[in-house]
Amino acid sequence: MISIQSKLPGVGTTVFTTMSKLAGQHNAINLSQGFPDFDCDPALIEAVSEAMRSGMNQYAPMTGLPVLRELIAEKTKNLYGASYNPETEITVTAGGTQAIFTALSACISAGDEVIIFEPAYDAYAPAVRLLGGLVKPYELAPPNYEIDWDMVKKLFSANTRMIILNSPQNPSGKMLSEADIQELIKLTRNTDVLILSDEVYEHIVFDGNVHESVCRHPELQERSFVIASFGKLLHTTGWKMGYCLAPAGLTKEFRKVHQFNVFSVNTPMQAGVAKYLANPESYLGLSAFFQEKRDLFRRLMSETKFKLLPCEGSYFQCVSYRHFSEEKDTEIAERLITDFGVASIPVSAFYTKRTDHGILRFCFAKRQDTLEKAVERLMKL
Ligand code: GLN
Repeated sequence: MISIQSKLPGVGTTVFTTMSKLAGQHNAINLSQGFPDFDCDPALIEAVSEAMRSGMNQYAPMTGLPVLRELIAEKTKNLYGASYNPETEITVTAGGTQAIFTALSACISAGDEVIIFEPAYDAYAPAVRLLGGLVKPYELAPPNYEIDWDMVKKLFSANTRMIILNSPQNPSGKMLSEADIQELIKLTRNTDVLILSDEVYEHIVFDGNVHESVCRHPELQERSFVIASFGKLLHTTGWKMGYCLAPAGLTKEFRKVHQFNVFSVNTPMQAGVAKYLANPESYLGLSAFFQEKRDLFRRLMSETKFKLLPCEGSYFQCVSYRHFSEEKDTEIAERLITDFGVASIPVSAFYTKRTDHGILRFCFAKRQDTLEKAVERLMKL
């Protein structure tokens, strides 16, 4: 038996795979991993099928189909007033997670420090460590997960290479405010600190909130990789398509890694998505669509024993249960699957130290009947 020394000791299988698998084994309603249980627009499927039938079945350009990159440039300009050159500053990727990994690979070397706000999407920290970087976690606490920028300042050192942002945030649903952005601008001014801004939930924001993309702010844009996801935008998480926006100098390095990692993303889907996105109506209504689901889920859940945390954006609703149980969040999450048939994600999985505040995350990107059935089961608790 040949064995290798693990580069990621202490890392198991991602919580999303684990919980979805457990949900499947127990035939539970799966509100754990974030993906819709309804289909995308048939017009999108038709656009992709048409591209396949018309022979668009060989490699796409390494950086993405030009028509798609041009549309991304137009969309970004219209939404955030930011200019990105499709030739040199936009790269189509095989999903958000790949884009994150590629951006980190292009920038992080041994000893570089990366500031991460936790609870954080579970892909960031292992990727940083794999590259020899050091994770500097800043633990935020429920119910509001507010950032104290003086604390961030304290985490800064001569070795700080990057700050990872995620707004709307997974799992907390928290969004960066204009005041947060101003603090960030002050903090990074006259430094060469980079920003990785994971904005995959940019189109899922509620109650008239404004998404503060870092690219709205030239001082941040010049140091940022902005990560976006077509899976979240088009209800096609299984297509694994996203993109990365970054100034030319950063994109050049990003593409050096990208070309030897995925090389290029599948052609007919890029063509289909480009055709579909030519109509901005295809995504401008997304917040209203998901707000209806969030509101329904919150209304239903308010009849259960759980306490609802705020949810400003994303398709996740966090709830607390400490007032009725001292169980670990991993235990109650498992019990909800085995005894009640509903899967969620224990939020301790999003902390490096597995900090347990007694919070569970539910995904409400589901059909109305799925949400109703799930909450009916949770009522029995
Ligand atoms: N982003 C999704 C979530 O938070 C999962 C992505 C994945 O499973 N890799 O549930």
